[in-house]
Amino acid sequence: MKLKSYLGGQWCDGAGDGAALTDPTTGEVLARASTAGLDLGAGLAYARDVGGPALRALGYGERAGLLGAIADVLKANYAAYVETAKANSGNTRADADMDISGAIFTLKYYARLGAGLGAAPYLVDGAPEPLSRDGDFQAVHVQVPRQGAAIHINAFNFPAWGLWEKAAVSLLAGVPVVAKPATATALLAHDMVRDVIAAGVLPEGALSLICGAVGDLLDHVDAQDAIAFTGSAATAASLRAHSRILETGARLNVEADSINASLLGPDAGPDSPEFALFVREVVREMTVKAGQKCTAIRRALVPAGVYEAACEALAARVGRIVVGDPRNEDVRMGPVVNKAQQSDVLATIDALLTETRRLTGDPDGFAPVGADKDTGCFVPPTLLACDAPEEAAKVHEIEAFGPVCVVMPYKDEDAAWSLVAAARGCLVASVFTADDDFAVRTAQALAPWNGRLLFVGDSIGKSHTGHGNVMPSCLHGGPGRAGGGEELGGMRGLAFYHQRTAVQGAQALISRLSGNGGEQE
Ligand code: NAP
Repeated sequence: MKLKSYLGGQWCDGAGDGAALTDPTTGEVLARASTAGLDLGAGLAYARDVGGPALRALGYGERAGLLGAIADVLKANYAAYVETAKANSGNTRADADMDISGAIFTLKYYARLGAGLGAAPYLVDGAPEPLSRDGDFQAVHVQVPRQGAAIHINAFNFPAWGLWEKAAVSLLAGVPVVAKPATATALLAHDMVRDVIAAGVLPEGALSLICGAVGDLLDHVDAQDAIAFTGSAATAASLRAHSRILETGARLNVEADSINASLLGPDAGPDSPEFALFVREVVREMTVKAGQKCTAIRRALVPAGVYEAACEALAARVGRIVVGDPRNEDVRMGPVVNKAQQSDVLATIDALLTETRRLTGDPDGFAPVGADKDTGCFVPPTLLACDAPEEAAKVHEIEAFGPVCVVMPYKDEDAAWSLVAAARGCLVASVFTADDDFAVRTAQALAPWNGRLLFVGDSIGKSHTGHGNVMPSCLHGGPGRAGGGEELGGMRGLAFYHQRTAVQGAQALISRLSGNGGEQE
């Protein structure tokens, strides 16, 4: 099967064989995708010229209704999507559910948020400000939907959630979407868009899809376009330097890789509930989606006094993870996404081993359940220990995008904070502690380096949503190395697709503008 792209309101075929999309458990080629010969510039213009006006003709409330309708289509096809995710992404049922239900949950969240904004055609940002002594000359800030297209370039690890978390925000903002899933796992994104288009729930031009390489798409961006990229820091760097993006000033949001940390508090001894919660979370983060999560815990920081106990407890729990064919219900972790990713992860583990020792994950001495080790793209869950993290560099710099985590000791809280910061910017850090004073100090020390902080004590041991889970009401993105981007976060996510403008004038005009806009809070 060759995946088609959906551009200019029709499904179109790229030329040639294109790239293969495989089943990472069996090696079977499931589909191919090519964009060769497609007029991507015309597709982008169609989104801008047809989809944009159609979406902006609706208010936020009506656009919120579109998100609800998309969620209904996806829900109706949930079971088929799970099978696709198992096949093309090597997902277990739980992995697939995280991706697909996460997409539906995020669409529904933004549908609810948008419903509250009613028929307003734009947003009002703050109260009017008097600018003259008599008060008649005033200013108000408005946020109006941008008139370009939203280009969404996604990573391979969340073909469903990555597509819809971005689309939910830009469609609600009134900006048409041109989505480009990563080719390796584009099958699920393709099937979802196919079903949504077939259901006829969106205005013409509101949603386009590119299956295959990005081609010359970015040579056609224009000043009002907004590009939201998720992927590696290396690809992000090439986008930041793209001459057309620089020339036009089109917006670019980057969600890149990061070496996230989880910190066990100095108060948490081996018998404390926080210690047990930490061990559970680190191992869960290592193994969910075979560790292919941008938010996964890559570094586990523990007080020097419990380093040995933590290594033992983590290794024991990792040792219980059943790896193999994700269709087998006993299996807890499937393969990584393809052979290229497998070689990349194994090579990165070798590089990390120059500064660490291996606690678990012998690549030669393990046998995946129900699958052939050589044909499949398996990597055993690999726990490494770094005894002198202050002297190490790679453990803070290179990302093994797979089931890999490095445990390291810290001597005091200042040392712990410095180690977290050594990764130069992360999406998320978590802290397991019962000491609220330490937590408050740590929040201030870690916030400049992280987009999200999770503090877990016994009282929320069962109710917290996890280190790696991205909640639509909370910001997703991180400073520095993590890309400096901001996605989601409720209303905050809409800003990227709006132009904020200060409007100055007489009080009567400013009051009218304020009254007609949607309230942001
Ligand atoms: P990638 O190789 O950078 O690819 C990401 C996307 O960019 C794909 O759709 C890819 O298309 C496209 N792309 C490749 N070259 C491009 C170019 N020159 N111009 C424009 N687009 C281009 O990353 P990946 O291997 O898919 O994803 C894994 C990485 O993403 C990891 O490092 C992970 O940490 C990071 N990630 C970050 C987040 C986050 O939210 N911060 C989330 C998930 C993943 P093709 O597939 O067609 O090559």
